[in-house]
Amino acid sequence: MIDVPENKIAFISHPKASMHQMPFPKPHLESFENPLRYQMAERYLEKKGILNQTVRLRAPRANTKDILLVHSPYLVDSVEILSNIGTGQLGESAYASPGLFQTALLAVGGAMKGTDVVLSGNVKHAFVFMRPPGHHATTSDPAGLCYFNNVAIATKHVMQNERVHRVSIVDFDDHHGNGTSEIFYTNPNVQYISFHEYDYENFGLGHYTEVGYGEGKGTNINIPLVETSPDTSYKTAIKRVLEPALNAFKPQLIMVSAGYDAHYADPVGNMDVDSRTYWEFGDSIRRMVQSLNALGSVWVLEGGYNPFALGPSIEASLDGLAGRQRPALEDQVERESNPLILESNDEIIDKVLETVTPYWAKKKTS
Ligand SMILES: [Zn+2]
Repeated sequence: MIDVPENKIAFISHPKASMHQMPFPKPHLESFENPLRYQMAERYLEKKGILNQTVRLRAPRANTKDILLVHSPYLVDSVEILSNIGTGQLGESAYASPGLFQTALLAVGGAMKGTDVVLSGNVKHAFVFMRPPGHHATTSDPAGLCYFNNVAIATKHVMQNERVHRVSIVDFDDHHGNGTSEIFYTNPNVQYISFHEYDYENFGLGHYTEVGYGEGKGTNINIPLVETSPDTSYKTAIKRVLEPALNAFKPQLIMVSAGYDAHYADPVGNMDVDSRTYWEFGDSIRRMVQSLNALGSVWVLEGGYNPFALGPSIEASLDGLAGRQRPALEDQVERESNPLILESNDEIIDKVLETVTPYWAKKKTS
């Protein structure tokens, strides 16, 4: 085995990731997934010297054939056609722009490159800093600012390699990754674990009773936290659900849908976490990769729409992933948390565990 320093991280980006922009003013949801969030976060990370500590790589462009690993030909064609026209609606909160098709192909290429470099053994972890995000895109429908499901395509791509039989996808974006969940819902070899904000008054997708179907039962794990959940609830869910779930599944590779819109300053999400939680995710994934003797982890940017909060959030993740101490950053301000919220989340976490752990036990004995 090649001896790779545990803290070596590839950072994959591309200047053309700024090409796609939806034609909406604030406060439309579509206006927040914009080039500015990308450019400001990159500038922040550069200025703080974070990127000098990484291996910087450029995202290559994916081929249509790669997209077809997951999506229907109709979806691929519609994204290309409306990009050529330069405008048009592809799905709910998913609109075309002249730069969309090229930008989306680069985002998929970046995610695939992430898996390739980790498998090559040259780095242990990769952070794919590209846009647009992907986790809401289902097999045949773009939605929620997402067109091609970057993480799902990279997962299918990497599983063509004989060294990778089991992949876990950890999704901590503020929203439930319904696309990724749908794509792997029956697949026993892909474990999907999603932390998200859940509206218990109106209900919707992402409930903990969605556990997978057929052979995939038990591999779909939803952690639907209540609105305004604080750092403490995330930390509890990491320890009580994420780490035991990874230990039970034993993936050879961990994919991360790294969305930062659960940040308290985010204009889209309604959670109450700061960069300390993003350090926790980095630290946890690093420790899990080590203890499971996995090949590594590939992080792919999803949401995160406050241009000032995105940089520090990614910085904290990278520090945790590299085994560096938790940085003291300006967004880490003390906020009062409601004990009722903590209590509700503790109960939800109990329910999640009651629902999914019987499947893990079955897997062990079979
Ligand atoms: Zn989101």
